[in-house]
Amino acid sequence: MSDLRVGFVGLGAMGWPMAGHLKRAGRLVAVANRSAAKAQEFAREQGVAAPATLTELATMCNVIALCVSADADVLAVTREIAASAKVGTVVVDHSTVSSATAQQAQAMMQAAGGDFLDAPVSGGVEGAKNGKLSIMVGGNADTLARVRPVLEAYAARISHMGPSGAGQNTKAVNQVLVAGIAQGVCEGLALGEALGLDPDVLLPTLLSGAAGCWFLDKRGATMLRSEFSGGFKLSLLHKDLKIVRELAQSVGTDSSIIEKSLADYAELMAQGHGDEEISALIRRKRATR
Ligand code: NAP
Repeated sequence: MSDLRVGFVGLGAMGWPMAGHLKRAGRLVAVANRSAAKAQEFAREQGVAAPATLTELATMCNVIALCVSADADVLAVTREIAASAKVGTVVVDHSTVSSATAQQAQAMMQAAGGDFLDAPVSGGVEGAKNGKLSIMVGGNADTLARVRPVLEAYAARISHMGPSGAGQNTKAVNQVLVAGIAQGVCEGLALGEALGLDPDVLLPTLLSGAAGCWFLDKRGATMLRSEFSGGFKLSLLHKDLKIVRELAQSVGTDSSIIEKSLADYAELMAQGHGDEEISALIRRKRATR
């Protein structure tokens, strides 16, 4: 596809900076978002269009990237795009949803003469801002080859994992690791705090050894200051882990980290902390006596 005219739908914590990279790469034509004010603000700042409907957006673009919230959003947006898309239009979905949703969305786009790639991302809001996301793609290799220049605007790595749904299955594996690392780091730092260890010495010491990792580096200091804004909302990880639980059950692998994390995040959501970053898990780890 030599003439890539890109639209971006879903301008949240991830989508806003990703769309910004596309604009800087000279590929972004139009944006849309559920709350239209956000799309209008982005359009004003970046000098792109913010059409009133997805139908209009679909007529302006031949590649449409999504980074919306959940399965129902991906299906609703893809349905609307498929109804008005030109033949050959490709939807690239960066949201985290189930592989079944990806396959349903691919069928919708293929019926409309286009295609759909599941292309979930990892690397956090920092990765989106720096344009250094790991993108795990499911779907046709030829379609990926055509739209690869779009993904390159915000990728550190682009991996073709297999047919439709394989990207989302890879992301499910990723989320087990994310949840387990959060359990370990939050529990460890709550213990360090309770023992009165100086965080200014504790954190660099841990980061220099075998326990060093992205989550400790990016969220260690902020969680010890009880700052939980921005980043990855814990309600979104809870949504992801429900998908992961079903997958683990379907193949019979152990799901103890998944279950513990689902219970912890459900409790935090019930206490009104659903919009906080996942490092708010430390609230559940702190001593209660
Ligand atoms: P977010 O900040 O809540 O943003 C979601 C955006 O999508 C919002 O702007 C929302 O609009 C828009 N949206 C939702 N449904 C829509 C629809 N039906 N039509 C149009 N726009 C819609 O979430 P996020 O952190 O950017 O995450 C987005 C996706 O990426 C999720 O699936 C998440 O699991 C995944 N993800 C997140 C991270 C992370 O670190 N944050 C990392 C990797 C993957 P409103 O303004 O109306 O709410």
